[in-house]
Amino acid sequence: TVSGAIIDGKAFAAGLRERVAAAVPTFVEAAGRPPGLAVVLVGEDPASQVYVRSKGKATIAAGMASFEHRLPVETSQAELIDLVARLNADDAVDGILVQLPLPPQIDEGAVIDAIDPAKDVDGFHIANAGRLATGLPGFVPCTPLGCLMLLKGRLGELAGLDAVVIGRSNIVGKPMARLLLNESCTVTVAHSRTRDLPSLVRRADIVVAAAGRPEMVKGDWLKPGATVIDVGINRIDAGEGKTRLVGDVDFASAVEVAGAITPVPGGVGPMTIAVLLRNTLVAAHIRAGLVPPA
Ligand code: NDP
Repeated sequence: TVSGAIIDGKAFAAGLRERVAAAVPTFVEAAGRPPGLAVVLVGEDPASQVYVRSKGKATIAAGMASFEHRLPVETSQAELIDLVARLNADDAVDGILVQLPLPPQIDEGAVIDAIDPAKDVDGFHIANAGRLATGLPGFVPCTPLGCLMLLKGRLGELAGLDAVVIGRSNIVGKPMARLLLNESCTVTVAHSRTRDLPSLVRRADIVVAAAGRPEMVKGDWLKPGATVIDVGINRIDAGEGKTRLVGDVDFASAVEVAGAITPVPGGVGPMTIAVLLRNTLVAAHIRAGLVPPA
């Protein structure tokens, strides 16, 4: 018997994308132009190419303008920062996303901090990270914000709940922990040096797994009824020369204990692009002096 309800991230993301698309015509009427998202890809990393292509398609499907910039792998940091400066100055561009990872000759932090914080729809700029850390409004990284939307959609009010975030990266774990703290959860952040992770997870009403460790979190680690958000995307060997995608949670055992759980694929993954579109719509409204839709 399966006790856990499966959280349908794909359906939730489709709803968010529809709401964004529905708000675009009103913006176009008021601003005289569509919201615009510029995506910059340096080099030919296959996974990054797939992400950039799907971001571009989703942007156009939402009725927004998509500006794609593909630069050769040998691009220098100065050349990339020069492009970012031109996008900062371009009034048709509301959001700027530089696809990571960048080639080794380029310092990612220097490039991200060259982006105008008002166009930083990925929420990676230190000004936006600082705003989140101090509880001020700003742009929040898309993946953790998508996780928060799924949690609130499922649980409603989060105040007072015990949350464990597994992972402390700047793009997932840390912003996730800060979002949950801003919702008045009691937050524990676990990482590779954490002792006795199972007993920490056992106390949690909310578990967000973002460690990049295939099927690490087992069902018998969970408090019965816990809500489990699985951020991990891991490709593992499925035998006979095939591979398959799994999360950081052992879904088969966790679904027996959890109150609700996101699958992989079809959970957190689809939310990331939907939130990117939402952040771009918000950026466009703020830049045009309009009030963003709720
Ligand atoms: P990072 O590799 O940057 O960070 C992983 C974090 O997990 C680190 O803080 C690390 O600790 C911690 N960790 C590693 N091993 C363990 C362990 N055994 N126990 C506890 N903590 C551990 O990864 P990201 O944050 O970028 O991504 C995490 C996962 O989410 C990946 O699988 C990635 O593919 C996926 N992802 C999915 C997205 C989506 O759209 N669904 C978007 C972004 C990422 P320490 O700091 O000590 O090294």
